[in-house]
Amino acid sequence: MEISWEVEEATRELRKYFKTGRTKSVTWRKNQLRALLDLVHDNENAMFEALHQDLGKHPVEAYRDEIGGVEKSANNSLSCVEKWMAPKKSNIPLLFFPAKGEVLSEPLGVVLIFSSWNFPIMLALDPLIGAISAGNAVVIKPSEQAPACSSLLANIIPRYMDSNAVKVIEGGADICEQLLLQKWDKIFFTGSPRVASIVMSAAAKNLTPVTLELGGKCPAILDHLSNPSDFKLAAKRIVGGKWGPCSGQACIGIDYVLVEEKLSSALIEVLKKVIKRFYGDNPVESKVISRIVNKQHFERLCNLLKDPLVAASIIHGGSVDEENLFIEPTILLDPPLDSQIMTEEIFGPLLPIITLNKIQESIEFINSRPKPLAIYAFTKDDTLKQKIQFETSSGSVVFNDTLVQFLCDTLPFGGVGLSGFGRYHGKYSFDTFSHEKAVMHRNLYLEIEPRYPPWNKFKLEF
Ligand code: NAD
Repeated sequence: MEISWEVEEATRELRKYFKTGRTKSVTWRKNQLRALLDLVHDNENAMFEALHQDLGKHPVEAYRDEIGGVEKSANNSLSCVEKWMAPKKSNIPLLFFPAKGEVLSEPLGVVLIFSSWNFPIMLALDPLIGAISAGNAVVIKPSEQAPACSSLLANIIPRYMDSNAVKVIEGGADICEQLLLQKWDKIFFTGSPRVASIVMSAAAKNLTPVTLELGGKCPAILDHLSNPSDFKLAAKRIVGGKWGPCSGQACIGIDYVLVEEKLSSALIEVLKKVIKRFYGDNPVESKVISRIVNKQHFERLCNLLKDPLVAASIIHGGSVDEENLFIEPTILLDPPLDSQIMTEEIFGPLLPIITLNKIQESIEFINSRPKPLAIYAFTKDDTLKQKIQFETSSGSVVFNDTLVQFLCDTLPFGGVGLSGFGRYHGKYSFDTFSHEKAVMHRNLYLEIEPRYPPWNKFKLEF
């Protein structure tokens, strides 16, 4: 495959610049974080516009889920980076006396970040914060499926940041493949498992470490909540966790709900009321719910509803508007478990409700499927909480809320199994883009002779 001049030149320049050591200083790192904060501050309106153009995102949602999160993350790194960089003293066992030990975090080198289209600003800039805090040189490849955001980032990043060390390369699969032919010191990928395996195979050729931030089907478990106001709040948070972020096009959005059969009609009634309260009588006219990103994804979602048994399970919504790339918030009750809507990540505004006899069955239900990126559970039952925590596996577990874990910098964010591996956010991002080097200081005295041959009788008896 022919490699474009842009790709080759960019990687060559970055490697040359990284070798100068300039990106390693705390001053450089802090200046870049400040530059990023200026970039976000000065271009907030342009970002709102681009997010609206690509996804129909409302500015408040755009601020809550993307721009505000980037600011928070950059401010956090700015105040902590010096502490994170400081060598950490390590206790050395007496056996090695006299010695001192420390762990040094060093940048990995030149790193590549692939981002996804659903949070095109956040998912490009948040990993960037980790990469520059750790002192790396970076290429960002924004998703071509959010073209307005991709071109905005390509336009503004060089104006604010050190363009010797941070570059944006735009393009589709062909550019991605060219980028993957280069040698990187780390690839940070957000996207689908299908492309992740292409990325990982390419990375394997150079033994490049990867972080894979993927998706999956995130369940929400709804237990008995005897207090009606708890039940209503849980239902509200389910609506927020399904349709709130990007109209369901979110890796940590709720994919389906598990509930006991006897509670399902009460749940559906409350969900309908909340949907109406949030998005009005005619959601297609609502300005607060995002659009489907493009025709291809719109058709993919419509196809999920075409299966006659799935169509028959729709109990709310179901209308689609191709011209506006809009799909109404849709609830399905017990679609067949072997239908595509229950075997593939939905990534859109369709919410299956799966009924169980006993809520404890949710553990087996989840465990019989690939490990999800997140599990949400609305319950006050400590035994059920324990079972969910210790008998299931997922990137994260959140009790009695949805999505909030993404914005909490003190928790690691990442998947497990098919939902990915590696983690980031806050200090975890810094660690993801650093190598922890072990350093041991010894002295040139106090020799232990039995270390060395010949192991004669005298030495062995020593
Ligand atoms: P995708 O895999 O199609 O694309 C992701 C990135 O890979 C893009 O930058 C794209 O340009 C690039 N790419 C496309 N083809 C490529 C190829 N042949 N070789 C190398 N790179 C290529 O994913 P998407 O449609 O952008 O995102 C949807 C998926 O991402 C969902 O599965 C979702 O759950 C997941 N996701 C995960 C997170 C997370 O933080 N865990 C966040 C958002 C989305």
